[in-house]
Amino acid sequence: MRECTLSIVKPDGVANNLIGEVIRRVEAKNIKVIAAKMILMTKEQAKGFYAVHEGKPFFESVTDFMSSGPCMVMVLEGEDAISIYRELMGATNKDNAKEGTIRRDFATDIEKNVVHGSDSTETAEFEIRYFFNSLEIQKR
Ligand code: ATP
Ligand code: MG
Repeated sequence: MRECTLSIVKPDGVANNLIGEVIRRVEAKNIKVIAAKMILMTKEQAKGFYAVHEGKPFFESVTDFMSSGPCMVMVLEGEDAISIYRELMGATNKDNAKEGTIRRDFATDIEKNVVHGSDSTETAEFEIRYFFNSLEIQKR
């Protein structure tokens, strides 16, 4: 099924010059970047984005991290884009991520794990709207 997903190159990924590497791996799977921009989230904006994790022990820390520096946010589109991009990312904790995945290759630890990707069509819709308005997304 043709899908859209929200990708973020997190502050560690931007700082470590991994924007190009992430896009290269996405495009190699024939998934298209249909919208993209650099952002610097406030703490409040990071809390809104990760609202599903409110109350969890890592919530304060991950929202500090996500607002600590610039991120690149992208809308990706393609056949099964949500699951294919999650496969490219690898498991949350790099120690559990398969070889050849972005997190296995480049993550620092369970928090500084380079990339975000939506995990369902519902979260993709919420997350894309959180960062992009309709004028910013190419129609085809
Ligand atoms: P993401 O939502 O960023 O794509 P994910 O779906 O693999 O990652 P989630 O469980 O949604 O993982 O956690 C969101 C983010 O919070 C993780 O990517 C990571 O940066 C951070 N995180 C998750 N679990 C922990 C933890 N135990 N300790 C520290 N940070 C964590
Ligand atoms: Mg998640």
